[in-house]
Amino acid sequence: MELWFTEKQTQSFGITAKIKRTLHTERTPYQKLDMLETEEFGNMLLLDGMVMTTERDEFVYHEMVAHPALNTHPNPEEVLVVGGGDGGVVREILKHDKVKHVTLVDIDGKVIEYSKQYLPSIAGKLEDPRVTVLVDDGFMYIAKAKQQFDVIMVDSTEPVGPAVHLFEKGFYQGIYEALKPEGIFVAQTDNPWFKADLIRKVQQDVREIFPITRLYVANIPTYPSGLWTFTMGSKTYDPLQVQKDEIPAIETKYYTPELHFAAFALPKFVLDLVK
Ligand code: SAM
Repeated sequence: MELWFTEKQTQSFGITAKIKRTLHTERTPYQKLDMLETEEFGNMLLLDGMVMTTERDEFVYHEMVAHPALNTHPNPEEVLVVGGGDGGVVREILKHDKVKHVTLVDIDGKVIEYSKQYLPSIAGKLEDPRVTVLVDDGFMYIAKAKQQFDVIMVDSTEPVGPAVHLFEKGFYQGIYEALKPEGIFVAQTDNPWFKADLIRKVQQDVREIFPITRLYVANIPTYPSGLWTFTMGSKTYDPLQVQKDEIPAIETKYYTPELHFAAFALPKFVLDLVK
């Protein structure tokens, strides 16, 4: 008997993955958590039935959340991650020697616990001495943080459930105030095929708050549509003004100095969302 997991990405379209076995499943106080062993993508974390990360393709997303901003800010010493309980973004951040301290704030400690247990290649750096892990609501945490961070990364779930407030203009205003005067923030902002309205709204909100606003893309096979976007808001530094030969050599599998710039070259139908 074959076992398949299907994520309905819209009411009438989805992806399906053949499953070897279910490793863990529980309803946490915030969301339904499933950890599956898949044939094609290794271990796979689901939250509320949506693919969060897989052992095989996680590097794309985690590198593309972390490296463009950290290679744009000249001295990213204090970094905050909102969400990111699987640890992948933290692992990438720690590749930058200039980073002195990373604070991770995830609302659900169970995500951290089971990512450590079943996704060690992703979560393995959460206990690094440069990392502080807090279990808290990122929306509330940001509201209290003032001018503390050089870079803030929002690695949240979709704008439903516990993450619903993490895509609102008030949250981005709070991020602006939590950043130091030359700070940069980046957030995952879903896909242009099924969430065009979300991207258009976020771009408009961020553009009204930050002097420099950019959108960039990456290919993530297990995410809805496979084309993923990231929104960057910057107070001072423009990612497209970085000197390519000043981008430090770090160990990656997707991000490169050339791709740092190419990722901001948008397909026409995506470009139209940001006009
Ligand atoms: N890469 C995935 C994506 O793009 O959808 C996100 C992965 S990461 C596991 C998402 C994390 O956001 C989850 O661990 C979830 O608990 C966390 N989260 C959701 N709402 C939150 C909130 N209000 N504050 C802090 N963390 C939150």
